[in-house]
Amino acid sequence: MEDKQGDNFEYQSVQVLNGIGPAVAEKLKRLEIYNIQDVLFHLPMRYEDRTRLTPIGSLQQGQQALIEGVVHHSEIKFTGRGRRSLLCHLSDDSGAIVLRFFHFNKSQQNNLSAGSSLRCFGEARRGASHLEMFHPEYQRLTRANESIEPRLTPVYPKTEGVHQTLLKKISEQVLNKINQGFLMDWLPASVQKKYIFPDLVSALCSVHRPHRNEDPVHLNQCSTKAQQRLLFEELLAHQLSLLQSRAEIQNNAAQALSLTKKDYAAFVQRLSFELTAAQKKVIKEILADIKAGQPMLRLVQGDVGSGKTVVAAVAALAVVKGGFQMALMAPTEILAEQHYVNFKNWFGKDSCVLLTGKDKGKKREQKLEALSSGDCPIIIGTHALFQAGVNFKNLALLVVDEQHRFGVHQRLALREKAYTDNHGVRIVPHQLIMTATPIPRSLAMTAYADLDYSVIDELPAGRKPVTTVVLSSARRNDVIQRIEKACEGGEQAYWVCTLVEESEVLQCQAAEVTAEQLTAELKKVSVGLVHGRMKAQEKQTIIRQFKNREIDLLVATTVIEVGVDVPNASLMVIENAERLGLAQLHQLRGRVGRGQKQSACVLMYQPPLSANGKQRMSILRATNDGFKVAEKDLELRGPGEVLGTRQTGLMQLRIADIVRDENWFDEVKVAAGLMMEQHPEAVQPLIRRWLGKADRFVNV
Ligand code: ADP
Ligand code: MG
Repeated sequence: MEDKQGDNFEYQSVQVLNGIGPAVAEKLKRLEIYNIQDVLFHLPMRYEDRTRLTPIGSLQQGQQALIEGVVHHSEIKFTGRGRRSLLCHLSDDSGAIVLRFFHFNKSQQNNLSAGSSLRCFGEARRGASHLEMFHPEYQRLTRANESIEPRLTPVYPKTEGVHQTLLKKISEQVLNKINQGFLMDWLPASVQKKYIFPDLVSALCSVHRPHRNEDPVHLNQCSTKAQQRLLFEELLAHQLSLLQSRAEIQNNAAQALSLTKKDYAAFVQRLSFELTAAQKKVIKEILADIKAGQPMLRLVQGDVGSGKTVVAAVAALAVVKGGFQMALMAPTEILAEQHYVNFKNWFGKDSCVLLTGKDKGKKREQKLEALSSGDCPIIIGTHALFQAGVNFKNLALLVVDEQHRFGVHQRLALREKAYTDNHGVRIVPHQLIMTATPIPRSLAMTAYADLDYSVIDELPAGRKPVTTVVLSSARRNDVIQRIEKACEGGEQAYWVCTLVEESEVLQCQAAEVTAEQLTAELKKVSVGLVHGRMKAQEKQTIIRQFKNREIDLLVATTVIEVGVDVPNASLMVIENAERLGLAQLHQLRGRVGRGQKQSACVLMYQPPLSANGKQRMSILRATNDGFKVAEKDLELRGPGEVLGTRQTGLMQLRIADIVRDENWFDEVKVAAGLMMEQHPEAVQPLIRRWLGKADRFVNV
C-alpha cells in the first residue's frame, strides 16, 4: 500500500520534515506516527490557556496558569527521606508562590536564583504555607521574549522521548503545507453540507492551532464545529471498519448446524434447573444463526449469574451432534477450569479437553493431537488456544467468554482457525461472544457494530439481591466477627485482597499475609487461600474444597472475579474496594447471591475516601443491576477502560468519545451506509486515515 500511494504527500514518511532523522522517526512510531498524514491526525487532547497572565495572588488551588514574578530567594531543602528539593520563592505585586523542583542542575539553579524575573506555567497546588507549583515550565524574562502566546496552546498525547515542542514543531510544518491543497477530503460533500461542517483543511488547522477568540471551554469539551467534523469522521471510520470486517467474515462459508428437538429436550431435561425465558430466547436466536451456512457473529450480554454458560452449551450440543468441534475460550485459568468441569458434566469426560498455558511437554502434545485428529469435540482453554501449533480438525464454533478481557484483535484473529471441508470449501467458525459487562445498547451497537446482539435480561428465579454495605477498614474487627458468626452458622465467605500495584507477585503475597492473619484470628473457621500464582491443580483443589464446604473462608486475589460458582457462599468482603473499578466490583460481588440465602457484600475502604470514591461505593450500595452499574462506570471512567478497548487500538479514539458523542451515532450509521453505496472508493482511505495501522486487522 505504501508504494502505490508513495507519491501522495500525506503518505510520505515523517523523515521528509525538517529536523526529523531516523532516530526521531523511530520514536514517533511509538505514537503510531509514521507519515505526514499521521502527524495531522495526531490531534491535541486538550488546550492550555497561556494567552494571559494570572496575578499570583488570585491563583486558585488546582488552577493551571501562566504567571510572572521575581525570585525573592531560593533554597535547597531536604525532605525526611533525604530527597533534595529546590524551593524558589516567586512573587508579583499581588502575592507569592513557591516553585518546587526535584530535579535540577547547576545552571538551572542559577537561572532560578534571587533577582531573576520568570514566567512560569504550571498547576497551583496547596503547599505547607503557600501555594506551590511542582516543576513548572519556566523561562527567564528578558526584553526579547516578553510577548505572550496569542493562541491557546494545544497539548498532544506524547510518549517517552517525544515532547510537546517536537510535536508542535512538526505539526507546524505540516499545517503550513496542507494549505496548498495536498490533502484529500474523503467525507462526502453531501454529508459536509448536511451538518454545515467546515472543510477538512480548515478543521485540522483550527483544531491544531485554535483561533485566539475560540472559547477554551468549548474547545476542551470538543464542541467547536471543527472538532465535531473531525470526531464525526472518526466515528465514521470506525463504523466502516467494523462493518467491513463483518462483511469480510460473512463472505466465508460456515458449517450449517441444526439441533433436533429430541436432542435439545433430552439435554434440557438433564439440567438441574428450568431455563429462564431470556435464556430460551437467546438460545433460539443462536440456533437460528448457526442453521445458516454463514458465520454467526453474535454478542450475548447478560449480567453476572444470568446463566450464559448453559446457553453456550446448547450451541455446543448442536456442534457435537453434527460431528464437529467447538472451542470455548476463557480469560483466566480458573474460569476455564470451571467451564471444563461444567462441560464434562453435560457432555461426558471423553468429549472435553482443557488446554491452558500450563500444559507442557508430552501432556500438551497429547492434547494437541486430540484436537487435530478431531477425537475431542469440545476444547476449553485460555489464550493458549491461539498459540502456534494449536490446530483443529473441524472447528465449527468458537465461544469467547467474558470478551471484554480479550482484545478486539484477538477476536479478529479467530477467523484464522478456518478449515477446509470435504468439498474443498474454506469453513470459518461461528463466533459467539459472551460478556457480563452490561454496556448500554446504543454503545454496544457502536463498539460492536460487527456483531449481532442478544441480551439475557433476566436472572434465574429465586435469586435474592445482594445487600451491599460500605465500611471503613477501621471496622475490620467487626467484619471479622461477622464472618465468624456466618461460618459458625454454616455459611461460607470470601475475603478478597487487592493491591494498587500491578505486580501479581505482590498481590499474591498480600493475600498470603491476610490468610495467615485471618487464620490466627478466626480459630474455629477453616481458612483457604487461592491466588494467581498457584498451580492450576492447587487452585482447583482449593476451590473444590470450598465447594465441598471443607473450607469456610476463602481468601483470594481478584482471580476469583469470574468463574467461581459456590452457591452456599453468602458473604463477601472486599478489601480496599475503592481501588477497583465498578464493573470489577460488581463482577466480584456476583460470586455471592447465587443460592437461596440472603447474601451480603462488605466493601471495605481505606479512609479517607475521595469524593469520587464515595460516589462509586454508593452506586454499588444502591443497585444490584449490572446495567446501571455499567452506565455509571462509563460516566466515571470512560469507555476505553470499561470495554477493554484502551489497550487494543481498534476503538482507541483520537478525538471522539463514545459516551459524550452518543448523539452522533445514528447520523454516523446513515453516513456509513451512504459511503458504502455511493463512495466505496473513499472507504478504505478514510479507515486508514483514522485507524492507521489498526486497519491491518480488518484485512486479515
Ligand atoms: P454467568 O452468566 O455469570 O456466566 P453462569 O452461566 O455461570 O452465569 O450461571 C450461574 C449459575 O446459575 C450456575 O450455577 C448455573 O448453573 C446457574 N443457572 C444457570 N441458569 C439457571 C437457571 N435458569 N435457573 C437456575 N440456575 C441457573
Ligand atoms: Mg460466566
